[in-house]
Amino acid sequence: MNFGTICRHCGKAKVNRPRGLCWSCFYRPGVRDAYPSTSKFARRGVGNFCGAAPLPASPTTAAPGSAEKIAILAERARLKQTLWHPEDGIGQITRHLEHEEVQETEHALAS
Ligand SMILES: [Zn+2]
Repeated sequence: MNFGTICRHCGKAKVNRPRGLCWSCFYRPGVRDAYPSTSKFARRGVGNFCGAAPLPASPTTAAPGSAEKIAILAERARLKQTLWHPEDGIGQITRHLEHEEVQETEHALAS
């Protein structure tokens, strides 16, 4: 898509910033927001969502089938993330190991 070399906002200055804007319009508060990005890379996402979804930011320790887990799945779906994190449900094991480690440290300090 070619927007020419004249600023889309003021129609006078030469375009030298993204979105078909001149320098002063691009950095003027609010102007940039009125002109959506012209980059084809910025147009992907919700509109034609398919393929590999990003992993959720963090796994959940919620038990499968619990209300907490279902709420987390719903939130992931809303954010267009994969519903299943490979580390879901293992947090409790990790926590258990950490707890044992703490006990060992405390034991070592006491002796
Ligand atoms: Zn301008």
